[in-house]
Amino acid sequence: MMGMGREYGKMLSGCTSLRIGGPVFCWVEAEDVDAVLEALGLAEEARKPVVVLGRGSNVLAQASGFDGVVVRLGKGFDSVEVEGTGVVKVGAAVAISRLVNESARAGFSGCEFLAGIPGSFGGAIFMNAGVRDIKNPEKYNEVKDIIIDVDVLDLKTRKTQNIKRREIDFKYRSSGMDSKCVLGARIRLKKDKGEAIEKKINAYMEKRKWMRATGMLTAGSVFKNPDSARPAGKLIEECGLKGRAIGGARISGEHANFIVNTGSASSDDVMELVELARKNVRERFGIDLELELKVL
Ligand SMILES: Cc1cc2nc3c(=O)[nH]c(=O)nc-3n(C[C@H](O)[C@H](O)[C@H](O)COP(=O)(O)OP(=O)(O)OC[C@H]3O[C@@H](n4cnc5c(N)ncnc54)[C@H](O)[C@@H]3O)c2cc1C
Repeated sequence: MMGMGREYGKMLSGCTSLRIGGPVFCWVEAEDVDAVLEALGLAEEARKPVVVLGRGSNVLAQASGFDGVVVRLGKGFDSVEVEGTGVVKVGAAVAISRLVNESARAGFSGCEFLAGIPGSFGGAIFMNAGVRDIKNPEKYNEVKDIIIDVDVLDLKTRKTQNIKRREIDFKYRSSGMDSKCVLGARIRLKKDKGEAIEKKINAYMEKRKWMRATGMLTAGSVFKNPDSARPAGKLIEECGLKGRAIGGARISGEHANFIVNTGSASSDDVMELVELARKNVRERFGIDLELELKVL
């Protein structure tokens, strides 16, 4: 057994891409399944809730912190192994960027669309991360498209389980796995020429250049798109809210579905902008925007 690292009072601002968030009751870095079980026991004993966090790139943590146990999967879940022709076993803690790069190096195509999306593969499975196809904008690529099966630990029964893709309720930005800790997955890729794979990766990276160029602190899209013809960013922009600031938070001037922490934003600043955008879009278009961002 590899064990776990615990830290009481760890600040979530250091663990989220928005760089916002107060202290947690206990932060657990779990190296194996036993360590996750131990963390569940710790939470039960202290009568606190548990949440599994990846790299915090789609999360808004409250300035008041989280009075519970936060589990992050560590080294024991950080491997990429080729199992057979086109079948790759990926741990939940593997960075999305690493998966994209290692697949390319091995000559496997299929996950290029994830290039430039920050976070862990576990987070990407949980969120069913996705992006519009670069060549065919009518097509939407999602993590579910490459999944064969997913290994999970059920947080209620405390049993591990292997779930086939068809048994998972994948939807737009959701996997329905709220009571599960995603441990890893097997994905299906296909052999292709290195050059063709690189070209695709570069195209996706190029499209995201503006996100990196500004070095902004964000958690990606704040709202789910109500439908492909009416992306949330466009609706918010049409309400004249691009660039609107509250405290240290601002609706991005580049993309109105991104909220940026300009350096000193509190979670309340972000939530006030969320409510402002929601109210304006509801009044102007009669559409209720649904949060993509996970509020901790
Ligand atoms: C600049 C930027 C651009 C982005 N672009 C995109 C994009 O194009 N498409 C897209 O889909 N997303 C995008 N995102 C959002 C984010 O990168 C993805 O959702 C990513 O998959 C989240 O991974 P994470 O490890 O950071 O998850 P976290 O943010 O840590 O967690 C997200 C949710 O998943 C849960 N979770 C995480 N890991 C596990 C696990 N192992 N088991 C169970 N639950 C878990 C958490 O509890 C939380 O509810 C973007 C974010 C940023 C900052």
